[in-house]
Order: sequence, then structure tokens, then C-alpha cells
Amino acid sequence: STDLMAGKRGLIMGLANDKSIAWGIAKALSGAGAELAFSYQGDALKKRVIPLAESLGSDVVLPCDVGDANSLDALFDALRDRWGRIDFVVHAIGFSDKSELRGRYVDTSRENFRMSMDISVYSFTAVMQRAEKLMTDGGAGLTLTYYGAEKVMPHYNVMGVAKAALEASVRYLAEDLGRDGIRVNAISAGTIKTLAASGIGDFRYIMKWNEYNAPLRRTVTQEEVGRSALYLLSDLGSAVTGEVLHVDAGYHVVGMKAVDAPDI
Ligand code: NAD
Repeated sequence: STDLMAGKRGLIMGLANDKSIAWGIAKALSGAGAELAFSYQGDALKKRVIPLAESLGSDVVLPCDVGDANSLDALFDALRDRWGRIDFVVHAIGFSDKSELRGRYVDTSRENFRMSMDISVYSFTAVMQRAEKLMTDGGAGLTLTYYGAEKVMPHYNVMGVAKAALEASVRYLAEDLGRDGIRVNAISAGTIKTLAASGIGDFRYIMKWNEYNAPLRRTVTQEEVGRSALYLLSDLGSAVTGEVLHVDAGYHVVGMKAVDAPDI
């Protein structure tokens, strides 16, 4: 543990349970001295998020459905009332109809395309719009993406298209907000078994494939993504913006199946 984030305050969005990537990030930031607020989606998650927040000394736990502009406004109004300003925001949110995270991309419906882009892409822009006003002394925003944005991965389908748009939006946001000292980055995380990931067809097989073929010959943990997030959100990353940092045991550099990989 360090004091890299001492005196810094920020918001964690996308905590569902202790398997969430948001949880690995929250632990790393809290361990470095940050003061955290959390937002959760819907009452069902409230009772899971409150004890997790409490365990990191946070009693700022607020509802927010990112598909709803009023809900986003209410969240950031509450943060302004509570803290006046913030230093960072973590957006660990994505959503697509599970039935379209299998089968063919070409069969994507217009309705699910729209919803996936709204919740998984536009919401980060909507969050940064509001966060900008509270980042009066500079700041940093972080979102989570996946290699399916760059290459075709089985069953990732419309989420791959959404993540490609999310990565592009990180670059545009970095340019718009850079003059105010606000940095915007993404982590492209390797596969991790979470609630959201369990909706993707053949996810266990994809995990194994990554484990056998990544240069480090393993998958990554929430805690490892957390420590990379700490780098990007702290002064260690003070000259880094518009970046998509791969935290994936090196999987993205590989061009073919490893010679020593077993058949699975
Ligand atoms: P998770 O299920 O723990 O988190 C997803 C979160 O999104 C949940 O907290 C859920 O409540 C929230 N969410 C969905 N719709 C929402 C809405 N309308 N309003 C507010 N919140 C909403 O799963 P995770 O794997 O930790 O996912 C976090 C992020 O990491 C996602 O963007 C995901 O695409 C990305 N990611 C995951 C992996 C992986 O292998 N798990 C790899 C790379 C990137």
C-alpha cells in the first residue's frame, strides 16, 4: 500500500459484487489512500454494494442507471453536495442482451445495437460530461474495454463493435478535456470471470484459450487490473491520456496458437 492517492476523492461506477473489476480497482485506490464514492444500478445491488463500500471506509453509496440522464444528474448533484469536487471517476459498466452474445454478429437487432451502444459507450461520455464540472483541479477518467474491439472474438459480437466505439470516444474525450488537465484512459482487460462475463457464450473455453496462449501463460486478476488503474489514475500516469492500456498477460501481441498450448 502507498499514499499515491492520499487526499484524492473519486467515484467508482459498476460495482456489482466482489468479483467485479470495479472491486479490484476500488481496493487498489483505497489501499493507496483514496476516498471513494460508489454508484450501483438498481435496488437488487444496493445490499451487495453497501457492505463492500463500508469495508473500504466509504458511506457514499448512490443509485445510478446510466441509461437515464436524470439519474446521472442526480448522482453528480449528490457528489457535488457531498464533496464539492472530485479527482477521478471509474466507469466499469457494459451491457448487451445476453441472447446476442452468442451466435452471429450479423443477426444483431437494431434495438439491442442501440441499447448496447447507449449503456456501454455513450454512458462514459455522459459521465465525463458531468464529471468535468466537478474536476475543477484537473482529474482522470477511466473506462474498461476488451480486445474484442480490435479483433473478432467468439460471441463478443455487438459488444466488440461497442468497445471499438468506446475506445474511439476515449481519444476524443482526452482531446476535449486535456486543456483542463483532465486525463481520459481505458484499460483493455484480459478475461476475468465476473457476472457480466458469464453472459458470454463459451466463456470458460475463451478463458482457457487465453491462459494457454498469453505470453505470461495465465489470465489476469481483478487486483492486477486494479493496480494498473492506480497507475493511470494517480500522478504515476500524469502524462498519459487517450491511451488504451492492455492488462491482459500480453494476449494482444500473440499472432497464433502457442506451440506448447494443449488442445482444448
Ligand atoms: P460486472 O458484472 O461485475 O460489472 C458490470 C457492471 O455494469 C455491473 O455493476 C452492472 O450493474 C453495471 N451496469 C450494467 N448496466 C448498467 C446501467 N444501465 N446503469 C448502471 N450500471 C450498469 O462485470 P465486469 O466484468 O466487472 O464488467 C466491468 C467492465 O469491464 C465492463 O465494461 C466489461 O465490458 C469490462 N471488461 C470485462 C472483462 C471480463 O473478462 N470480465 C474483460 C474486459 C473488459
